[in-house]
Amino acid sequence: MNSQAHSSKLIAGATGDWEVVIGLEIHAQVTSRSKLFSGASTEFGGAPNSHVSLVDAAMPGMLPVINEECVKQAIRTGLGLKAQINHRSVFDRKNYFYPDLPQGYQISQYKNPIVGEGEVLVDLSPTEQIKVGIERLHIEQDAGKLMHDLGANDSHVDLNRSGVALMEIVSKPDMRSAEEAKAYVTKLRTILRYIGTCDGNMEQGSLRADVNVSVRKPGEKFGTRCEIKNVNSIRFIGQAIDVEARRQIGILEDGGTIDQETRLYDPNKGETRSMRSKEEAHDYRYFPDPDLLPLEFDQAYVDALATTLPELPDEKKARFIAQFGLSPYDAGVLILERASADYFEEAARGRDAKLVANWVINELFGRLNKEGKSIENSPVSAAQIGAIVDLISANVISGKLAKDLFEIVWTEGGDPEKIVEARSMKQVTDTSAIEKAVDEIIAKNPDKVEQAKAKPTMLGWFVGQVMKATGGKANPQAANEILKAKLGI
Ligand code: ADP
Ligand code: MG
Repeated sequence: MNSQAHSSKLIAGATGDWEVVIGLEIHAQVTSRSKLFSGASTEFGGAPNSHVSLVDAAMPGMLPVINEECVKQAIRTGLGLKAQINHRSVFDRKNYFYPDLPQGYQISQYKNPIVGEGEVLVDLSPTEQIKVGIERLHIEQDAGKLMHDLGANDSHVDLNRSGVALMEIVSKPDMRSAEEAKAYVTKLRTILRYIGTCDGNMEQGSLRADVNVSVRKPGEKFGTRCEIKNVNSIRFIGQAIDVEARRQIGILEDGGTIDQETRLYDPNKGETRSMRSKEEAHDYRYFPDPDLLPLEFDQAYVDALATTLPELPDEKKARFIAQFGLSPYDAGVLILERASADYFEEAARGRDAKLVANWVINELFGRLNKEGKSIENSPVSAAQIGAIVDLISANVISGKLAKDLFEIVWTEGGDPEKIVEARSMKQVTDTSAIEKAVDEIIAKNPDKVEQAKAKPTMLGWFVGQVMKATGGKANPQAANEILKAKLGI
C-alpha cells in the first residue's frame, strides 16, 4: 500500500508545477420511506406536488417531528465511515430565500453535527490506496425543484423533494487530482449502497457533489478555493476539477488572484462559470431551531445499530483475498457492488474460486455490461455459473465450449449439465476417436505433413483441423499429443 503518495499528480504550468487541492461536500439522499420531518412519501417520480404534507409546504403553525429512521441511517453511515458519532447534536435554521424553499430556511445542522471526523480508504489501483479524511456528516432537509421549461412565461415549483432527508458528508481537503476525487466518490457510493443508507443514484439526484478546488505550488499553503455546485456524475466531477484547476492556474500565472466564489460546471461547454460570490456562514444567520429539541441518544443505541451493519467493502475485499486467494484486482472488482460479491460467493462455494472469479468478471460482467443489465437481473444465476465451472473443472467441456454453453444458458436458461448431455457437447477425451480424426487428416494432407516436419509451428493448423472434425469437442491437449506423435515432431 502506498498511502498518501499523491505521486505524479502535478499540473505543469508556464511558471512550473502546480498542485490541485480538492475537498468534496456530498449530498446523499437518505433511504427512508418518509421525509425528515413529515410523513410524506419520498418516492421518486410522482406527479408534481403529490408528495407534499402541510409541513413540507411550510404552512403556518406546522411543527416538524423528527423521523427516527433517518437518524438511524445517519448513525449507521457514520459507523461505516469509521467516524465519531456525537451523542448530542442540534438542528439549526439556515436562513435564505429561494422559491423552492417555502420555509424561508433550511433545517440543517451547523456547529453540532450528528457525525464528526472519520476516514475513507480510497482505492486508486489494485495496489495504491489513499486515505481521505471525513470532516463531518450532518442531516438536513432537501429543497423543492423549480421547473422553468413548462411554459414560455412562467416557472413552476414541485415540492415533492422538499423536506426529504439528506446527509451532507464533508471531506477534508485531502485529494490531489481528479482521479483521486472520482475514486473517492466511487468508494463513498459503494459504502453507502452496502449499508443501504443511500441508493447512490446520481441520475435521479440521490447523490450530488459540491466540488471545492484550489491550486498551489507544491509545499505552499492552501490557495483560495472555488466551490462548484451540484455536480451530478462522477465523470463530470473529474472534468470540472480539471477545467477549474486550469482556470485558476491561468489567473494566478497572469498575476491575478482567485476570488472565493460559487461556480457552476457546464459539461456542454467544458467550462465553469461564476454563479455568485461565496456567502459566509454568518450570512445565513444560523440559529438553533426552536421547534426541535437537541437530538440525544446513548452509546447503547449506537451499539445496537452497529450490529445491523453488513460486512463493509474493505473487509470483504481483504477476506476475498485471504479466503479465496483472489488477486487484489479481482477482489476489488467483485466487491464494488454488494450484490455482485454475494453472487460470486454463492457461485464459488466449494469450487475453484479463481476460476469462478474469472467467469464472473470476464464472461458474466462483460455480458451484463453489454446489455446494460444489473447483477440482480442476470439471466444466468450463481448456481448456473457454478455448474458451468464444474463442467470445465471435470474436463467434461473445453473452455471454448463452455463459452457456447454460457451463451445457451444466457439466452435459453436451463441446467448446464443437462444441456451438455442433450446437445452432446461433451469434450472428446476418448483417444481412439481423436486418433481416428488425426489419421484421416494426415491421409488427406500429405503436403502439409511434409511442411510440418520442417516447420513445427504448423501444428496449430492440424489442431484446428482436429477441432473442426470433432465439432470443437476434442480435448485440445490430447489432440496436441497425438498429433505430435503421429507427425514425429
Ligand atoms: P462551506 O459550507 O463554506 O462550503 P464546508 O466546511 O461545508 O464549508 O466545506 C468546505 C469544503 O471545502 C470541505 O470539503 C473542505 O475539504 C474543502 N476545502 C477547504 N479548504 C479548501 C481549499 N483550500 N481547497 C480545496 N478545498 C478546500
Ligand atoms: Mg458547505
